[in-house]
Amino acid sequence: MKQRKKRPKKGEPQRVTRAVTHIRLLESNPGKLATLDALTEVFLPLCQQYITLFCTDEPPDSFHAPCFQTGLSERWHRVAIQQAAGIAKSWRTNRATAYQNYLDALEEYNEQKAGGQLLEETKEPIWKAWDVPTLSQICIQGNRNVIKLEAANTSCFDYWLKISTLNKGSPLLVPVKLADYHKQTLKEKKINTSVTLNKRDGAWWLTLSYDELVRVKTTPDGPVIGIDVGIANFITTSDGKQYGTFNGKLRERQKRDREKRRRKARLRKCLEKKGVEKLPSTSSATGQRLTRHVRQEINRAVNLCYAQHAGCQFAYEQLSVATMRHKARSMNAYMRASNLGHIPRQIEWNSAKRGVQATKVKSAYSSQECHRCFYVDRKNRPNQQTFCCKVCGHTTHADLNASQNIATRLHDAQLRACTNRSEIKALLTRRHEQWKKELRVAVVDPPVQLGLWASSETSTDVGEG
Ligand SMILES: [Zn+2]
Repeated sequence: MKQRKKRPKKGEPQRVTRAVTHIRLLESNPGKLATLDALTEVFLPLCQQYITLFCTDEPPDSFHAPCFQTGLSERWHRVAIQQAAGIAKSWRTNRATAYQNYLDALEEYNEQKAGGQLLEETKEPIWKAWDVPTLSQICIQGNRNVIKLEAANTSCFDYWLKISTLNKGSPLLVPVKLADYHKQTLKEKKINTSVTLNKRDGAWWLTLSYDELVRVKTTPDGPVIGIDVGIANFITTSDGKQYGTFNGKLRERQKRDREKRRRKARLRKCLEKKGVEKLPSTSSATGQRLTRHVRQEINRAVNLCYAQHAGCQFAYEQLSVATMRHKARSMNAYMRASNLGHIPRQIEWNSAKRGVQATKVKSAYSSQECHRCFYVDRKNRPNQQTFCCKVCGHTTHADLNASQNIATRLHDAQLRACTNRSEIKALLTRRHEQWKKELRVAVVDPPVQLGLWASSETSTDVGEG
């Protein structure tokens, strides 16, 4: 079962759309679904034309006036426009996010370069132009104007799917039989009128969906738990709990898989030289299994975290490619971004289905900033796990320090107002200066020697306030 959520207004019940997938379309007599294939051959190229239009010359618009020739009915034409607008819209959003991430990465790169902190292996980020998406899979997102789901008055199957075709007035009637677990899921649910048809491996599949209203259980002033996302610990919360890890078994499996793929690649090269035509594939089934397994582990970790923090609201990082890269340095390339990105997605989904508020906050410098004195420095991290402030000596687990920074950023209006990394850096620097000033007031004459004080254990609580 796949899930999707719609963005709610704060405080209102959230509408969560749940999809029921893998309903196979039956072919009551052979060749019946060929009409659907014929329709697809006209539908997909038209949809593609609008995708290209909406990704290049015009903004995505489901109500755009028809502007391409087609043999499809007006209703089908509209469905093609709507589907194309949806695809183009998410493509544009993803591209904009990627571009912003690129700018962030560039800024971070230049910062390190200026500070002489650039590691030898760090390359300057480059922006590659995005290609317009092409429809590679057969997928139709129909509404009730073109595909109708009707209850069947027979015991042999559950619904009729009435699909209008290229021939006006002769709709295609396809019986739909639900499996027991489909029936269980859909029991007493109102099925949405929009349905999706997919063709995979020569078979047609139907996806139904229904909406669920989830009451928001958290209040804006509820206790805030900050979440830091990582590899060593998938999740570290600001109250010092950790959930899931990529280390240990998963890392071992990943190493073995990488070795296997290297051997395969060498074999391929060798066979290629010898002129062998049929080469073994380089794609790895174990790699895909491993990715699935990592995601299951992530889901388990996020679930547990939510279960153990009833009544709390969450703040989590807006992960950029740059921060992901930083966090995943020790991971194999193909495991990196996709899996780390799965954690915030699961956080979002868990929030939606449980009615718990979770808010993204800016993550810039959250791992370098001292939670006590606001001092920002890469050197505050002597190693991956440890945070040790160069100024005030505050020492803790690096992920815990980051998650505590993330928690306080939720209600931090000044930081929210910052539009880029350098503004955030400037704000944190001002706060650190302020902290030093207050410290001077707190500890009267003689003036505090920050350098000396940093190594003294007895006075570490002076700055707290
Ligand atoms: Zn500090």
